Amino acid sequence: MKKIAIIGGGAAGYFTATNLGKELGKQTVLFEQASLPLQKVRVSGGGRCNVTHACFDPNELVEFYPRGKKELLSVFHKFQPGDTMEWFESRKVPLKIEDDNRIFPVSNSSLSIIECLLKEVDKNQVETRFGETVLSIQKKEKSFVINTKSDYYEFEKVIFTPGSSIKSMDLMKNIGHKIVKPVPSLFTFNIKDERLKDLMGISFEWAEISIPQLKMESEGPMLITHWGLSGPGILRLSAWGALELNKLNYEFQICINFIQQELEESIEFLNEFKIENAKKSIYKINPFSFPKRFWNRILEVQKIPQDLTFSHLNKNQIQNISKELTEGIYNVKGKSTFKDEFVTAGGVDLKEINFKTMESKVVPNLFIAGEILNIDAITGGFNFQACWSEAFLISEHLKSSLL
Ligand SMILES: Cc1cc2nc3c(=O)[nH]c(=O)nc-3n(C[C@H](O)[C@H](O)[C@H](O)COP(=O)(O)OP(=O)(O)OC[C@H]3O[C@@H](n4cnc5c(N)ncnc54)[C@H](O)[C@@H]3O)c2cc1C
Repeated sequence: MKKIAIIGGGAAGYFTATNLGKELGKQTVLFEQASLPLQKVRVSGGGRCNVTHACFDPNELVEFYPRGKKELLSVFHKFQPGDTMEWFESRKVPLKIEDDNRIFPVSNSSLSIIECLLKEVDKNQVETRFGETVLSIQKKEKSFVINTKSDYYEFEKVIFTPGSSIKSMDLMKNIGHKIVKPVPSLFTFNIKDERLKDLMGISFEWAEISIPQLKMESEGPMLITHWGLSGPGILRLSAWGALELNKLNYEFQICINFIQQELEESIEFLNEFKIENAKKSIYKINPFSFPKRFWNRILEVQKIPQDLTFSHLNKNQIQNISKELTEGIYNVKGKSTFKDEFVTAGGVDLKEINFKTMESKVVPNLFIAGEILNIDAITGGFNFQACWSEAFLISEHLKSSLL
């Protein structure tokens, strides 16, 4: 009888297997339902795999996790992005830090990461059973019985890393775990509005976006898409508001400040601009740094005639334009997936996990890691980092307790 089962051959399952070493590796079976493992790693980061993020202080790092922030702090003190970099680079996968601090393999290909993980698991002589779905897990007095379609097995320890499907959550429910209802996180906002119509591709270097109803706010780059708004500022809001926005059935109002000025500041600024540019055509000169097409659209929506010069702008018009740019209200109706990068909020309740070892507090000898937990982050390599760190903790614990 082999000692350890790993259920799920994704980032969390593979990283656990790679760190077990040969002695425990030989006693481990990894079950993967698909015919090939690591399929999410393959498509991640647009095929480039955003492995982690250049944020090396655990206190700062946890701020990127809407769910799991408190629990991950001690986990990151043991294994953080610097350790991830060293781990891959010492295995001949050079990494690079991009301007926005995301970290990718120098090869710009997720295959470098996959090949490295496959090689390490092979080295540890872990038995891999691809195309074999685990259908049930039963806890016996001193072991677990695992059923697949073709066979059943007995193990002392189970490492559960199956991602975030409903079926996986049911397996945990059946064994006694509480599941926090899964809802999508990281999505873009659907908005049909004449102010955005046909302006897809226009981006704002920085926008402040809030959801007044929920008293939530975010800021960052923002992009007009075919269907509404996207970009880091929007995605951050979707992640932090995942639960509340689900309750609102994704129908709510957002308020956008496009210019990082308060209403009064903007009025003053436009009044001065009007004096300095009195004879210039208002449609030809954009006083702000965002693209001129958006400035023109705001003027059109305010029904400002094409032939006006700045000297003709009256008090009301300046007030209305400023209001649009500092407190523009938009109605969101629905959401869309961001580049297929769906991430799930919800999953196994974190109160039931010992974050020193990732062992279940409900079922001893069951270890849980990865997206099945109620942990998720914004984009930028943070979701993988949580997988690497949690998985590392499991293998370190098993090595110290079993060898
Ligand atoms: C398109 C896309 C791009 C992404 N890009 C990034 C990125 O660049 N950076 C980042 O940090 N995050 C990214 N993410 C998020 C990241 O991929 C996930 O957070 C991460 O893959 C979760 O790893 P995991 O091991 O928990 O689960 P998974 O990667 O989902 O792996 C679980 C595995 O378990 C298998 N499995 C499930 N049930 C069973 C069963 N009963 N029996 C046997 N096997 C089973 C599944 O087939 C799967 O292979 C991306 C997500 C998507 C969808």
